[in-house]
Amino acid sequence: MDIKKKDIRALSKEELQAFFERIGERSFRGTQVYEWLWNKSAHSFEEMTNLSKEIRAHLDTHFVINHIKVDKQQRSNDGTIKNAIKLHDNLIVESVLIPTDTRTTACVSSQVGCSLNCEFCATARLKRMRNLNPDEIYDQVVAIDKQSRLYYNRPLSNIVFMGMGEPLMNYKNVIASIEKITSDEGLGMSAKRITVSTSGIPKMIKMLADEEVRFGLAVSLHSAIQETREKIMPFAKQFPLPDLRESLEYWYHKTRRRVTYEYIVWKGINDTPEAIAALVKFCKYVPCKVNLIEYNSIDDPRFQQAAPEMVDAYIDALENHQIPVTVRRSRGKDIDAACGQLANKS
Ligand code: SAH
Repeated sequence: MDIKKKDIRALSKEELQAFFERIGERSFRGTQVYEWLWNKSAHSFEEMTNLSKEIRAHLDTHFVINHIKVDKQQRSNDGTIKNAIKLHDNLIVESVLIPTDTRTTACVSSQVGCSLNCEFCATARLKRMRNLNPDEIYDQVVAIDKQSRLYYNRPLSNIVFMGMGEPLMNYKNVIASIEKITSDEGLGMSAKRITVSTSGIPKMIKMLADEEVRFGLAVSLHSAIQETREKIMPFAKQFPLPDLRESLEYWYHKTRRRVTYEYIVWKGINDTPEAIAALVKFCKYVPCKVNLIEYNSIDDPRFQQAAPEMVDAYIDALENHQIPVTVRRSRGKDIDAACGQLANKS
């Protein structure tokens, strides 16, 4: 008889405890297994050495541990590492380790492919196949933490949900993964070191605000003019800027955390005084900072990085209005690991 085994990491600690009670064992066995699964990131039941052989065999007949596998690793000459991650159903996502002098940041994926259609993003060319489960997101973080210790002699310090997919279209699982990442039963990382990036889905931003989450929020704005934004991010027709603005005001009201706007300056698209003025105005609504991202080419002639003087014009205008602005240099470009380049090329 072929019984379909269940994914054991879909169970909560309480459900695991209940499972053990049902088979006539003490419930603390469930706590032990839970620790093995999350805190110790066990890949097999065999590793769970504080359980009897019988219990381990019993678990093995009922459950699977759907661990991710690092299928391929590419290292950039700037130290960035791109991982092709194979999931249990053979689908692939990518996760990136980004080192600086003092920090290691993990850039993780939340979906296989993406359902949004940003014209300038390579991931948008992949069909959205499915959402990642909480454990699949968690495992990416664990894998990058290991790499950071191995290659850089330090633990992972930050996590950004800026890989493949739209995190807020996989809301429940993203939140569940962050709960595990921040809990002492998982990795015990501070939520302050986590940033979730969204293309801007007002309803979901409000939901985050209602849950009073402790992590940071980044919004891929790219234009504060509705007509322009719709052209480059067609889904934005459904989520117009006034709605986005309102949701961000709500976010700030609830969390008191400033928002980060991600913004690329393209030649002939938003390299104009009007676009700059619109951004400055938008930035007045909610305390924020602006992260100007260098455009990474995805071989589409419509999109080209604007001239440096135009980026400087943005910086000057924002600084004149006391709006903090940083410029994000591309990392890992040579291996297609930079923002917007994750497309399972390998
Ligand atoms: N879907 C979420 C998470 C992805 S984050 C979001 O849109 O925020 C990836 C970041 O890289 C986003 O800010 C996105 O707008 C940006 N990006 C996409 N394509 C890019 C490209 N070709 N060059 C530079 N940044 C890009």
